[in-house]
Amino acid sequence: MSSAVKFKPAVEEILCKAGEGETITREEALLLADVEGEEFSSLLRAARELADRHKGKTITYSPKVFIPLTNLCRDYCGYCTFRKDPGDVGAKTLTPDEVLEVVNRGAELGCKEALFSLGDRPEALFAEAREELRRLGFRRTLDYLAAVCRLVIEKSSLLPHSNPGLMGPRDLRRLREVNVSLGLMLESVSPRLLETGGAHDRAPDKVPSRRLRTLEEAGRLNIPFTTGILIGIGETWTERVDSLLAIARLHRRYGHIQEVIIQNFRAKPTIPMRHRPDPTLEDFLRTIAVARLILGGEMNLQAPPNLTPDTYPTLISAGINDWGGISPLTQDYINPEAPWPHLRELYERTAGCGYQVRERLAIYPEYIARKQMYLTPVLRPNVERLCGQDGYAKEEAAWTADSQRGGRDARVV
Ligand code: SF4
Repeated sequence: MSSAVKFKPAVEEILCKAGEGETITREEALLLADVEGEEFSSLLRAARELADRHKGKTITYSPKVFIPLTNLCRDYCGYCTFRKDPGDVGAKTLTPDEVLEVVNRGAELGCKEALFSLGDRPEALFAEAREELRRLGFRRTLDYLAAVCRLVIEKSSLLPHSNPGLMGPRDLRRLREVNVSLGLMLESVSPRLLETGGAHDRAPDKVPSRRLRTLEEAGRLNIPFTTGILIGIGETWTERVDSLLAIARLHRRYGHIQEVIIQNFRAKPTIPMRHRPDPTLEDFLRTIAVARLILGGEMNLQAPPNLTPDTYPTLISAGINDWGGISPLTQDYINPEAPWPHLRELYERTAGCGYQVRERLAIYPEYIARKQMYLTPVLRPNVERLCGQDGYAKEEAAWTADSQRGGRDARVV
């Protein structure tokens, strides 16, 4: 740190402390949320250095297919373009055959993750959803999901990772059998967002205490877990910091949070929150850096590159070490207007920042290393087939290698 720069003593102390690997407190994080100018640059530098010390010069990503098992959902989040009511144009529940078709095409392209994203408990609200499930032979969406994940394990080389909304202990136990990891975005611990007109008005599954309960149960059950926050949906900075601290607390207790996603809200013309401004790049960078300092150097910190398409390499400077899942085959159904970058470009732009891109699986190497604890026997052969000695993907997908060589275009469709 240059002695020519005048820092508030407290800021300098916090950054030094973080640099030595100590995690920061709520008050300290809130102080960092306000820094400007040189202090802001130093905040980013401290976060990046911490990430470098633990993650080196590597930014990972997971080659995946995105499977929207059903887009029916009983919630009405103010920022969502994914959800549909029965009868809406595009409302759809995939059959097992349709899932397998996507999975098999993904496997041919070298994808390794089958990401299941779906609406939360549509059967609780819609008779049509109950009828559809009955036709498929199930009573609940989560029962159907577990059966389809098992099918993917049995019939393909892909590793399921599901994001199905709230899960109770019984569902977590069952899904753990057939998923190498599970996910639930915490999004925010702010109960204010459930008030009339808030982002989570009419979204009963977004009650923060219920989401924290799922995260905690997953910890008790040793499930490698993905969570994260969504920024710019009406939360205050204090609430943002409290959300990160809640994740850090759970991880300290159970050690199961394998990655934390920092996702930025994007306004879209069809959503109730269409007039809300997107978070600025500076706000996004500041959040990533504070998250890195709260969560520590060992946490895998992810930001999706397609949601800041022109400037995503800048996100490296704030301390991320993962780009998330990227698909050669399927679109980002949650943000359909935001295509994933071409892989060649992702590799080149990441290299331009001095970092190399590597493929990982839907379960991170540190959890594969403790597979007795984190992987059920049914999953281990599939994981072992795909991972190398160091826990990353053994063989890069053909479309990845082509991209690195500057060959076949890896444009997503
Ligand atoms: S964000 Fe998820 S829970 Fe909310 S409406 Fe969309 S699909 Fe449903």
